[in-house]
Amino acid sequence: MANSKYEYVKTFEQSTTLLPDTYMTVRIDGRGFHKLSAKYKFEKPNDRHALELMNAAATAMMKELPDIDCAYGESDEFSFIFDRSSRLFERRESKILTTVVSTFTSYYIHLWSDFFADKPLSPPMPTFDGRVVLYPSSSTLRDYMSWRQVDCHINNLYNTTFWALVQNGGMDATQAEERLKGTMASEKNEILFCEFKMNYNNEADMFKKGSIIYRDCDTSSSDSQEAHAPAVFNSEQSEMSKTAKKKERRRRAQASITIEHTDIIRNEFWDQRPWLLS
Ligand code: ATP
Ligand code: ATP
Ligand code: MG
Ligand code: MG
Ligand code: MG
Ligand code: MG
Ligand code: MG
Repeated sequence: MANSKYEYVKTFEQSTTLLPDTYMTVRIDGRGFHKLSAKYKFEKPNDRHALELMNAAATAMMKELPDIDCAYGESDEFSFIFDRSSRLFERRESKILTTVVSTFTSYYIHLWSDFFADKPLSPPMPTFDGRVVLYPSSSTLRDYMSWRQVDCHINNLYNTTFWALVQNGGMDATQAEERLKGTMASEKNEILFCEFKMNYNNEADMFKKGSIIYRDCDTSSSDSQEAHAPAVFNSEQSEMSKTAKKKERRRRAQASITIEHTDIIRNEFWDQRPWLLS
């Protein structure tokens, strides 16, 4: 490579390498979506098309980055979980974070018209921020996923009650807020049921539980056992493990991507899909 007297500036670059054998988790979140949802008149409390657009962008991302095992989305956010043995970009944090954020953003904009044909985008364009968090064990990762789903539940119950009071109860935002201050979940359920004849349980699962998207590749076949052997971190890789890696990459890329709106706090979901935490 050609050298020049200017090349020393490269030594000013800083980079963080993410710890090996941990779950790299990237959470992206829409910037100023409170405002954006008003600008495009999202239905309140939940605009189904807006959520489906988030899910479509997340699915496209998982097709482009086969190292992502699963993703969880609610509101204007999505969390992407990488396979713990992933070596994507040599686990350089800035490469991973910026690639995820820009890939998601470009698909969100690209797919917008599929979901909002009658609402063309105009500047300021939708943008997303992002962060990477490393979880050291399947149990901390499970707690992370549970934390997001609980957040979805708490916000959705609040928003559903808030908007019922505003849209059907004749209150303004301040009055509705005042009414809900300090209320427990059971009281919100009661307001919905007694005052608006709404049973919260009958609300759509996508609203109540968010969306879990996962790569549907069962690793129980003998083929993939080899590929799932413990990751090798030294630079010398045997031909054998290279072949296995190639196979694994193909298998992941070909696996179908499934979306569900289900409980991810209980063990059941994870017990039935053990490859997601392997
Ligand atoms: P920040 O830039 O700090 O993230 P924000 O305005 O995006 O600010 P959030 O806490 O991320 O704030 O909340 C996202 C907001 O976007 C929600 O409060 C809601 O008003 C709106 N929103 C997102 N998705 C939907 C949807 N599918 N239907 C209706 N409103 C939505
Ligand atoms: P990485 O993902 O690591 O960045 P890369 O293929 O993007 O890989 P870069 O070092 O960023 O590699 O180099 C960008 C390459 O894109 C250039 O080497 C060149 O081949 C090509 N390229 C970018 N802009 C132009 C352009 N305007 N005209 C022709 N080729 C271009
Ligand atoms: Mg936001
Ligand atoms: Mg948000
Ligand atoms: Mg895995
Ligand atoms: Mg480049
Ligand atoms: Mg370049």
